[in-house]
Amino acid sequence: MKTKLLLFGAPGAGKGTLAGKILDVVKLAHISTGDLLRENVKKQTPIGLTAKGFMDKGQLVPDEVVIKMIQERLKQPDCKQGFMFDGFPRTVAQAQALDKITKIELILEIQVPFDIIVQRVLGRISCSKCGAVYNTYSNPPKVENVCDKCGSKMEHRADDTEATLKTRFDTYNKNAQPILEYYKGKVAHRIVDGLHTLEMTKDDIKKLMV
Ligand code: ADP
Ligand code: ZN
Repeated sequence: MKTKLLLFGAPGAGKGTLAGKILDVVKLAHISTGDLLRENVKKQTPIGLTAKGFMDKGQLVPDEVVIKMIQERLKQPDCKQGFMFDGFPRTVAQAQALDKITKIELILEIQVPFDIIVQRVLGRISCSKCGAVYNTYSNPPKVENVCDKCGSKMEHRADDTEATLKTRFDTYNKNAQPILEYYKGKVAHRIVDGLHTLEMTKDDIKKLMV
């Protein structure tokens, strides 16, 4: 089974959902640069202070900031058994830098039509305490604005707005092909249908990771 994964796909494609499914099957470190950056913003670290302005506009945070963050994250012991990147690399420069640190074994590319993405991103809410993700259109919590799992208040990500979504989606479209091109012939690449990630069984996941 491959244990050095890269989850690839547009904003809202469901990389986090797929990551959760994979974690039910094998214990890998889930490394989401978006989550790491949001944590830094919340704690007002130097990385967070640099990143916030870019994130609020839906623009990419500078490569050197993200690469340094990944370098530190990969030193943590939970990465020894393997890892999956979510939202990284987002530029060819990031992919090149990553190659110097470690080699990816498998790219899982999630594909979803744009109209579905819009609904997913604009409807996305998450629990302020446990991080559980819901959607006001397709998967609302039982009680409005209250987490089913822990009862805490739900929140909307600051950058999940119509204005930034366009920037984020355009940036993805611009960079996705060059990044996949960079890995072509070097790393196995599989397509995942993002409309059905929620229904995937453990067996489906295992087959994907062979
Ligand atoms: P999404 O994929 O929905 O845009 P993420 O949580 O992956 O959400 O990222 C949120 C924001 O964090 C991005 O718009 C960008 O500003 C920043 N970011 C995350 N990952 C990277 C990265 N690898 N390189 C540069 N910026 C990043
Ligand atoms: Zn919760």
